[in-house]
Amino acid sequence: MKKTILFLMSDTGGGHRASAQAIEEAVHHLYPNQYTIIIEDMWKKHTPWPFNRLPDLYGWITGPGLPLWRLLWSISAYAAMQSLLFMMIFPFIKHRGAAYLKMVKPDLIVSVHPMMNQVGMGWLNAAGLQVPLITVVTDMVTFHPSWICPEVTRCIVPTEQARERALKFGMPAEKLVVYGQPVGLKFATSNRDKATVRRQLGLMAERYTIMVMGGGEGFGKIYKVARYIAQQAPQAQLIIVAGRNRALKHKLEAVTWEIPTHIYGFVDNMPDLMRASDVLVTKAGPGTISEAFITGLPPVLLGYIPGQETGNVAYVQENEAGVYVRRPLDVAQLICDWMTPGNDTLQHMSQNAARLARPQASLQIADELCQFV
Ligand code: UDP
Repeated sequence: MKKTILFLMSDTGGGHRASAQAIEEAVHHLYPNQYTIIIEDMWKKHTPWPFNRLPDLYGWITGPGLPLWRLLWSISAYAAMQSLLFMMIFPFIKHRGAAYLKMVKPDLIVSVHPMMNQVGMGWLNAAGLQVPLITVVTDMVTFHPSWICPEVTRCIVPTEQARERALKFGMPAEKLVVYGQPVGLKFATSNRDKATVRRQLGLMAERYTIMVMGGGEGFGKIYKVARYIAQQAPQAQLIIVAGRNRALKHKLEAVTWEIPTHIYGFVDNMPDLMRASDVLVTKAGPGTISEAFITGLPPVLLGYIPGQETGNVAYVQENEAGVYVRRPLDVAQLICDWMTPGNDTLQHMSQNAARLARPQASLQIADELCQFV
C-alpha cells in the first residue's frame, strides 16, 4: 500500500507551494508509485474564521502594507512573543487541524511554512499521531525564528548561513541538514538552447531578453521598471510575469510598448521563461533566486520583503552572483551597460550564479524524507 506524505503549508507568496511541489515531483521521480502526496493549505482550509482569511492579507501586507509587515515581523521574532501568540491562537485552531490530520493519517508530515512548525507539532500531538514531522526551511538566510521548533524530527535548510541561524534559535545540530532550496527538476534538466526556447514561446530568437517578475504575488515596482526598460533598451524584448497580481496585469496590458513585450499572469512554465532570458529583474524571493542560479541567470534584485528576504540580498551580492538596485531607472541603465559589446559583467555573474546553484536539492530532500516513512 502507498504511504502518505502530508505537506503543511499556506499560500503566502508562491514559494511555499512551489517548494512542496518540487519535493513532490522529486519523490515521484525517485520512487514512482510508492507515495501519495498531499499539499495542504492548512491555514486557509483547516482553521476557523477569521484565521482562515489571514493568508489573503499577505499580498497586501508585503506590498502597500510593508511598514506594518516590518513591524509585525520584528515583534514576532522575540521568543517570548512567539510563545504568547501560540498560547493565544492555538486553542482556536487546534481542533480542525488535528481532526484533519486524524482523517488523513499521514505516514510523514512535512512543514514548508514558518507557521506550520510549532503549530504543526501542536496538531500532531492533539491528533495523538506518532509520526515524524520534518521542517524544510524555504527561506534562504534570515528566516523567521518561527521556522524553528526543536522538537521536530529533522530540519532541512537551504544554506550554511541558515544552518548557523537555526543553531542560534535552538535547533539541535544533529537534526540539521543543508541541501539547498527545493526547486522543480525541470530547471536543471532542460538543456534546450535559448533560441529554440524563445521560438517556442513566440519570442524573437536573436533579441536580448529581459524578464521582469516579483514572486507569486507580482510584488514590487514591476510596472515602473518595465516601462523604463522599454524606453531605454530599444534593442531588447521583455517578458513580464505579473503572477497573481491581476490589477498589474491589466495595467501592463493597457500600455503601448516600445519594444516587443510579452505579458503573463501566473505561469507554470517558469523554467522555459528563465531559459529564454538573458537577465532577470525580480524581488529577492528565495525560490526565484535559486531557480535563476540553476539557469545561470544572475538576478537583478529590485526590492525585497524586509525580514525573511533581507539576507538574500547580501547573499547574492557577497557572492557577486547578481546585484541589488534600489531605483527602477537605475535598473534600466545598468542593463543597458551590460548589453554594451565588450562588457563581460553578466558573464562573470552568471558563472558565480551557477556556482551557487544546488540543482540536486529537491532530490536530496526527497530522498531524506522518504528515509523517515
Ligand atoms: N512562480 C510561478 N509562476 C509565476 C510566478 C512565480 O511559478 O507566475 C514561482 C516562482 O518560479 C517561484 C515562486 O513562484 O518558484 C516564487 O517564490 P519566491 O520564493 O521567489 O517568492 P514568493 O512568491 O514566495 O514571495
